[in-house]
Amino acid sequence: MTDKVLSKKQMGSFVEKILEQKDVFAPIMQDKSLVWGAVTSADDMIWDFTNTDLSPKDAFFPQSECLMHCTGCNDHDGETPQGSIFQAEPLLARERVLFNVRPCDARAFWLLDQIFCQDELTHDVYWADKRAKTTLVGLACNDPCSTCFCTSMQCGPHHEEGLDILLVDVGDAFLVRVLTIKGESLAASLPEADQDSVQRAVGCKEHAEKTLAPGPCTDHLASSDVLSLFNAPFWEKVAASCLNCGTCTFCCPTCHCFDIQDEIQGEVSRRVRNWDSCMSWLFTQHASGHNPHNTKMDRVRQRFMHKFSYIPTRRKGAFGCVGCGRCVRLCPVNIDVREVVRLMDDFAANMPIPS
Ligand code: SF4
Ligand code: SF4
Repeated sequence: MTDKVLSKKQMGSFVEKILEQKDVFAPIMQDKSLVWGAVTSADDMIWDFTNTDLSPKDAFFPQSECLMHCTGCNDHDGETPQGSIFQAEPLLARERVLFNVRPCDARAFWLLDQIFCQDELTHDVYWADKRAKTTLVGLACNDPCSTCFCTSMQCGPHHEEGLDILLVDVGDAFLVRVLTIKGESLAASLPEADQDSVQRAVGCKEHAEKTLAPGPCTDHLASSDVLSLFNAPFWEKVAASCLNCGTCTFCCPTCHCFDIQDEIQGEVSRRVRNWDSCMSWLFTQHASGHNPHNTKMDRVRQRFMHKFSYIPTRRKGAFGCVGCGRCVRLCPVNIDVREVVRLMDDFAANMPIPS
């Protein structure tokens, strides 16, 4: 890891140089909303923001993605239908850079890497191709907002996991923390950081961590008994006000449920992967009519158990939440994931120790 420095005055030419070879995406203003979008110059990029409503996961796992298409083919006479030809969609043509990724969202990519690309059999080529061709430039949070609780979720406002570069705003310049080979190649032209910039970045990190409101305790979750937590008495109460609207799962950087549909239009059909949500009743509806998540309580419990019990059990204790606070801000009935984690952890703390 090396520390370099980039003055704010030089950001325009730095981005311009990258744009000669790669596509660049960053948070931009569009119709008065802060969204992730393509940039044509550094002037498009927004630097002063808490976080976007939707996470940048769409860059690797689009809300709707064509996986392959199929066309009919005719016999030698050119008229008699003979069969169908399936063709994979082309992979990403140009390398990309995602600028100003918040550390919590980068940690979510780290987690999703392990879910989409677990081993030889579970290796999602669509996810892996985009990840391999993308460089992630993070922007450290110097002023986290009141709904953030990243430090309770194995992350932090200056966390580096999943990033190639971390930028820290140190006043009139950015400290450029180079973390990977991809990051090295992007920052090759920048000078080494001076000691003053490094010290200022350390101060920003300490300030940001102190600013964060205390998050929920999670000390007892990892070792808790999954079945006991599943049968805990508080789930009906947690679910009571939920509308099953799915906002929490759509804005979440770690939610990754999807559905695959075949769409036919005339002679052409497409196999499309669309985001889905465990909050939807149809998501788990079986062809037989049976639905293992038949009630609202089943669905709400699934969302929290998946993030704080099932994923940690499978992934060496890693939570399926990065504490970005989006669902806290956007839930229309104010269901607060921090409160649910507190209930789960309190319950786990008081579980009888198995003999
Ligand atoms: S955003 Fe709130 S109301 Fe909507 S599904 Fe999620 S928890 Fe329920
Ligand atoms: S569950 Fe909520 S706080 Fe946690 S990562 Fe998802 S949106 Fe962010």
